[in-house]
Amino acid sequence: TEKLHIIGGGMAGSEAAWQAAQAGIPVVIHEMRPHVGTFAHQTGNLAEMVCSNSFRSDDSEQNAVGLLHWEMREAGGLIMEMADAHSLPAGGALAVDRDQFAEGVTARLREHPLVTIEEGEIAALPDDGHWIIATGPLTSGNLAEAIRAETGAEALAFFDAIAPIVYADSVDMDKAWFQSRYDKGETEEERKAYLNCPMDRDQYEAFIDAILAADKTEFHEGETAGYFDGCLPIEVMAERGRETLRFGPMKPVGLTNPHQPDVKAYAVVQLRRDNALGTLFNIVGFQTKMKYGAQTDVFRMIPGLEDAKFARLGGIHRNTFLNSPTLLDDQMRLKSRPNIRFAGQITGVEGYVESAAMGLLAARFAIAEITGKELTTPPAETAMGALVTHITGGAEAKTFQPMNVNFGLFPPVEGLKGGRRGRKDRYKAYTDRAKELWKGWLAQ
Ligand code: FAD
Repeated sequence: TEKLHIIGGGMAGSEAAWQAAQAGIPVVIHEMRPHVGTFAHQTGNLAEMVCSNSFRSDDSEQNAVGLLHWEMREAGGLIMEMADAHSLPAGGALAVDRDQFAEGVTARLREHPLVTIEEGEIAALPDDGHWIIATGPLTSGNLAEAIRAETGAEALAFFDAIAPIVYADSVDMDKAWFQSRYDKGETEEERKAYLNCPMDRDQYEAFIDAILAADKTEFHEGETAGYFDGCLPIEVMAERGRETLRFGPMKPVGLTNPHQPDVKAYAVVQLRRDNALGTLFNIVGFQTKMKYGAQTDVFRMIPGLEDAKFARLGGIHRNTFLNSPTLLDDQMRLKSRPNIRFAGQITGVEGYVESAAMGLLAARFAIAEITGKELTTPPAETAMGALVTHITGGAEAKTFQPMNVNFGLFPPVEGLKGGRRGRKDRYKAYTDRAKELWKGWLAQ
């Protein structure tokens, strides 16, 4: 039988290797650790959890992640088997002993007669054979370069840069006002897409001092390489010079404060509408590595945001991911080189569970290909199908960002009303429907 090569023995690669080996396909896992490390991994084990030790909710009736657990268990998944074997008490969540878990996965794969583990970094795209690339959010620089050369720079992202999001009804409208810069926009709606918060000179200087003094999460080595100038953290801008923000995201031009029409603001913080309902606004250009506590303190210094409530705080982290909606076909193959599949977080899913799930699926497609069988994409009503459908076509390519599994990705279940009781019934209807269809798909 032809071999399946897998680059990266993380969550996705380990699951993919297990699936293929169990189906009788010889597998080679190419894993760069421990020879080449990442800033987050600590060991040479396969399937190392780099941060939390939780696989999140294990509720397969009311929760989309729990449903994904269920689907992977049904498919004989190794990640779930080892998670169950090494679980820790954690309420409704599935938490594990991370060392026992990773050692368990590593041992099972090492012991499998059809699995070979080759240590070392792969730096180029393979020309022939069956391959799955599952190198994750911290894909090595060399391989990322090779991928970028194939996909184009636009289609491979290196960072999630998240600006904080504020609830609109927590903004003090006696100080803030709606206006787009230079009143751009055709409609009243468009001109109301921005909220503005003015600062005088003293307020601006105090704000810069607070940003410079705030507690920040440290960048890890290698994490800052490749920053786009367009998404620098505000503290980095402030460090470059006290005026940088005032000439950048906080420039006071093209705006008139209706509360004080005669006073020219020294700087203006702009917030942009973040959802169709207009209930959420993000602070434009304010991606940051300030610690959460520091962020709320610093941002509440902004006039109009003294009592702001935050729907999400800002953050920046390294995350290599493809623009999968444009690059991958519905079998997770790179359209330009169909001998290569992608799996795991690099496909634009987010989280251990979702990554392992995409490893499982990529392997199933590869198995079918190697054994000359047809395998359809799982129905979009299953958790597995909802995720893969989203990343390979359902998502808007232009604004594609990594996604957790959630019921919003599923085709709606009709005929069930809202409300609390209604929501429980609705989620149950989603999971019941998914389970039937998943069993049917597996039977293929
Ligand atoms: P990984 O598990 O990272 O596996 C990729 C593997 O590929 C690694 O073993 C790596 O060494 C190897 N590799 C990379 N390049 C090469 C190469 N060129 N040649 C050979 N091998 C290579 N998710 C959560 O659910 N909860 C969290 O708390 C969480 N915290 C995170 C914190 C950080 C700092 C990061 C970066 C991510 C975090 N994530 C978290 C996301 C999590 O990393 C992923 O969801 C998951 O590990 C991705 O699985 P994966 O298999 O795609 O990648």
